[in-house]
Amino acid sequence: MLILISDAFDPGLPGRLEKYGEVTDDKGRVAEADVVLIRSKTKVTQEYIDGAPNLKLVIRGGVGLDNVDIPYAESKGIKVHNTAAASSVAVAELAMVMMLAMPCNVIPGHEGMKKGEWLKKQLKRTELFKKTLAIIGAGRIGKEVASRAAAFGMKVIGYDVVDINDPNIEQVDLDTALGQADYISLNTPLVDSTKGMINAGAITKMKDGVYILNTGRGKVVVEEDVAAALESGKIAGFATDVWYSDPPEASPLVNAPNTVLLPHLGASTKENLLRIGDIIIELIDGFVKK
Ligand code: NAD
Repeated sequence: MLILISDAFDPGLPGRLEKYGEVTDDKGRVAEADVVLIRSKTKVTQEYIDGAPNLKLVIRGGVGLDNVDIPYAESKGIKVHNTAAASSVAVAELAMVMMLAMPCNVIPGHEGMKKGEWLKKQLKRTELFKKTLAIIGAGRIGKEVASRAAAFGMKVIGYDVVDINDPNIEQVDLDTALGQADYISLNTPLVDSTKGMINAGAITKMKDGVYILNTGRGKVVVEEDVAAALESGKIAGFATDVWYSDPPEASPLVNAPNTVLLPHLGASTKENLLRIGDIIIELIDGFVKK
């Protein structure tokens, strides 16, 4: 059996997989691979699958499966798994960093210090305490964000298409979530119903001076509309870990004011990569024992 490690995983993973067969990170050998391990970088398209006639199992280390053509994979008898539960704490901690960085002016303060500017008088801060956070997509990650926000003394409301059923979150409809929030945390997957949901129309329903953080997927927001609302001041701050493509090409957010921009680091904690490795071993173990 050939296992192709196509994206970045814990450095110890190849050694842990050797008992199941040959392990390679040579992407040129995809045609021979029985198992392919990916994160967000490798796109398992129809063309990719057609070029991998031996492929039987794709494991996405992480949550989002929007980089895998699942119907086509299934039509070829290829099983597709993710490691959904592993990443929640890692992403939620990054969401908290983003939510704190904006009102604390961490980025402007830091940039000022680098330029020899002492911006003590210019930079004002606000607190998360007693502010309202709306979680859009209150699944595993959204709930982890909610419990951390509750510990900061925030009121947490949430919008989801299913029952949220979480003691930290008051479930509301979308317009209420958008209209009441001081902070909006985007935690949905990229599906038809979420694509472009944060657009000019949705932004007009928000409070003036709202802060938005996106650790879900880049295309959940219309970047041009968010950039325009940052320019006008309607949105006070926008923090994102996710983009239309990794890395982004010509995103209007890069030059917009009051942003915190990160290179898709949500899942990239050392601890999470170890947890992902554990789940991969379980999945491959089950696959070889079948
Ligand atoms: P999850 O499936 O547990 O939660 C997603 C929630 O979104 C579900 O409760 C679902 O009902 C809800 N949802 C779906 N469509 C919706 C809609 N139209 N409106 C409102 N809610 C909707 O998934 P999760 O583990 O919490 O992960 C959420 C997303 O986070 C992933 O799909 C992925 O895109 C993203 N993610 C990003 C990183 C990162 O590195 N930044 C890492 C892991 C996951």
